[in-house]
Amino acid sequence: MAVNVTGLSDTVERECLLYDPFYGDETYVTPLSDKFVFTRKVHRCQICWDEIPANSRVRAKTERNNEERKVATFYFCTQCCYAMADSINGSDDEICRRTSQGVDRAEREHREVAP
Ligand SMILES: [Zn+2]
Repeated sequence: MAVNVTGLSDTVERECLLYDPFYGDETYVTPLSDKFVFTRKVHRCQICWDEIPANSRVRAKTERNNEERKVATFYFCTQCCYAMADSINGSDDEICRRTSQGVDRAEREHREVAP
């Protein structure tokens, strides 16, 4: 699949936003915003755990966690945005692969920082 590093097409962005990345998570949250932004600093992708460079066009989902009483914004890298759009179009392979990759990486990192 061709990847446009400067941004995604309107269609991909629209399809990506239809995908619920936290499906199945039963934390009580209030969604505040869910849109594409240009990042101003480096973030971590919430799905694959890759680093997202500054000035990337990515999905940013902001919500208020009503259990912890705090607001958080989650970012999703360009590749995962494509994968989310693919999922909306009926192909889950890539988003599943990236999700399990992210879980592995997050666990490994957690082990490394653990005493
Ligand atoms: Zn990602």
